[in-house]
Amino acid sequence: MTSRRTFIKFSAFSAALLSVGKSMGSPRLHTSSEKPIVLSTWEHGLAANEDAWKILSANGKAIDAVEKGVMNTEENLKNQSVGLGGLPDRDGHVTLDACIMDELGNCGSVCCLEHIKHPISVARMVMDKTPHVILVGDGALKFALNHGFTKETFDRTPEADKAWKEWLIKAQYKPIINVENHDTIGMIALDAAGNLSGSCTTSGLAYKMHGRVGDSPIIGAGLFVDNEVGAAAATGTGEEVIRVCGSHTVVEMMRAGHSPEEACRIAVERVSKSPKNVKEMQIGFIAINKHGEFGGYALQNGFNFAVHSNKINNELCDAKHLW
Ligand code: ASP
Repeated sequence: MTSRRTFIKFSAFSAALLSVGKSMGSPRLHTSSEKPIVLSTWEHGLAANEDAWKILSANGKAIDAVEKGVMNTEENLKNQSVGLGGLPDRDGHVTLDACIMDELGNCGSVCCLEHIKHPISVARMVMDKTPHVILVGDGALKFALNHGFTKETFDRTPEADKAWKEWLIKAQYKPIINVENHDTIGMIALDAAGNLSGSCTTSGLAYKMHGRVGDSPIIGAGLFVDNEVGAAAATGTGEEVIRVCGSHTVVEMMRAGHSPEEACRIAVERVSKSPKNVKEMQIGFIAINKHGEFGGYALQNGFNFAVHSNKINNELCDAKHLW
C-alpha cells in the first residue's frame, strides 16, 4: 500500500485558503470546490471509497454513497474491527454499533446489535422508517428482522474465535494503539449537488465489557454532519471521543473558521487533556468542509485515511499527530 500512500500535501493549500478565509473574517470565502469527494478512516477506507465513488461520480447522493461505501467493510469477514468478522467482547459476543446522518440532519443509529451483516443499513432504516434515532440490542435486532434483514447464525468467525480464546488465557484488557483491535470505519462525503452525509460502523473495542457502547453510533461523537458547515468522523478509543463530543466539536471548529485539519487538531488537543491516560490510546478525526476541503489529525502516529475525489484518485494519507 505504500505506493498509494501520500503524506498530506494538502495542508499548505488548505492553510493558504484558511488565511484568505480568516483575513476576510469568514470560512465561507474558501474557494476550493473539490466535489464530489469522499474520505474514510484507515486503510480499509480505500475499498470502501471505491464503492462510494461509484455513486458519487454518477452524481448520486452522499447519503447513498456513505451507506454503500461502508457496507464494503462490513461484509469483509477478514476485517476484525468492523462487521461480523469483528473481535468479540469478553463474553464472546460480536456486538456491532453504527450510525448514519444526512444533509437534513436526519440520523439513525444502532448499538450492541448482534448477528446482522449490515448494521449501517439498519441504522439507515431507523433513520428512514422510525421516529427514533437510536435502537439498541434485542430491540434493534427485532426491528432489523421485522424489516427483512437476515439473522446470521454463526457467533464468531474462526479467526475471531481463536483470537478470543487466546485472549481469555490472560483476559487482560489493554487496547493496543493502531492495531486491528479498534479500527472503525467512519466515512464522510460531499456530493456533486453540494450535500454532505456521513456513516460510521464498528464492532467496537475488542474484548470490551458486554453491553459497552463506544462513540461510533453516537451522533456528535463518532459522526456529525451539518450541511451548512461540514462533516466529521472519529476513530479510536470511543470513551475519549464521547467525553469531548468529538465530531461535533470538529464541525463547530470549522464553523468558527478553522480548516478541516485545524478543526481536527483542536478536537485532538481536547482529547489530550482527558483525566484518563490517553498517552496509551489512539484517537483520530477526519473532516470535510462545505467547500470540499478536507483534513485529519490524530493523537499518535499511525492514523491514516483514504481520500477519493476527481483530483485525488483514492489515496491513503498519513494524518499529522500531536505526539
Ligand atoms: N471508536 C470505536 C469504539 O470506541 C473503536 C475504533 O474506532 O477503533 O468502539
